[in-house]
Amino acid sequence: MRLVIKDLNDKPDILKEQSTIDALNQIAVSGNTNLIKDSVYKGTYTDSVGKTQSSVREKLNKYYFHKCAYCEVICKAEIEHYRPKKGVSEDNTHNGYYWLAYEWSNLVPSCRYCNTEGGKGNQFPVMGTRVKSPILDILGKLDTEKSIAKSTELIAEKPYLLHPEIDNPVLVLGFTLDDESKGIKMLGLDTDKLRGEKTIKICNLNRDYLKLARKKNVTDSFIKHIDSLFALNNQGLIADENLPKALKIAFEEAEAKSQDATLEYTLLRKYIVSNEVRFEQIIVSQLEFSQQTIVREAFQAYKNGNL
Ligand SMILES: [Zn+2]
Repeated sequence: MRLVIKDLNDKPDILKEQSTIDALNQIAVSGNTNLIKDSVYKGTYTDSVGKTQSSVREKLNKYYFHKCAYCEVICKAEIEHYRPKKGVSEDNTHNGYYWLAYEWSNLVPSCRYCNTEGGKGNQFPVMGTRVKSPILDILGKLDTEKSIAKSTELIAEKPYLLHPEIDNPVLVLGFTLDDESKGIKMLGLDTDKLRGEKTIKICNLNRDYLKLARKKNVTDSFIKHIDSLFALNNQGLIADENLPKALKIAFEEAEAKSQDATLEYTLLRKYIVSNEVRFEQIIVSQLEFSQQTIVREAFQAYKNGNL
């Protein structure tokens, strides 16, 4: 997960249409979840070769770069409701947040593994008081300002699940090598509120595929780069005194990739290069013993601006 700045005014056309606004109002006022049409919140249309496409997904891709909002895997995303639209697992008296079915700030892209297959589904645990019904204005119509995910009313629920457009995951989610160093496991950094650990559990963010893929795609390739520099050093092609400078290029490359939100696993990429302790735990600890001191000292000098 990474923080995404989505323009709430830059809605897909279908969500701006008066007919959609009227339909959502009817759903909100009647409480009839059977009126929710997935063709609306997906913005379904048929392309020139007859395939069903989604204008909402296309708009989300502009902000999420084709990545799942939760696990950051590039995928053909499903349109996921951050607050579930037709029921809440933790409260069987709740009919779901049906009045948010077409609300732009409630729609995020999700891979099917984070969403439906062993993932989030209708889970939406909260620490505060749950909002059970839509807030209507004095004319008895849906108050859309109060439907926005970061409205005071909805924030007061204190959801456990991080919202990628509201909460900065950098502060709440971290990583560590898993038990046998076969993969990279995600962990919660916020010991008080436990939003991190809950988010990981809700979306199943430590499934085997993700742990292995994070290691293979991020840390293994970084370590391979470092190894190649030591190999050149052993062959006499990089002198000992130039090795730290060569490592600097590897660090800069890792840092640049961490800034490139189009790549998978941005949060992990940022985590590794954010400070020396994290770099030590995830990168240095996996290096050959003979490389560790040189790389550790080079990274310290790099972070201090002395390399
Ligand atoms: Zn996912």
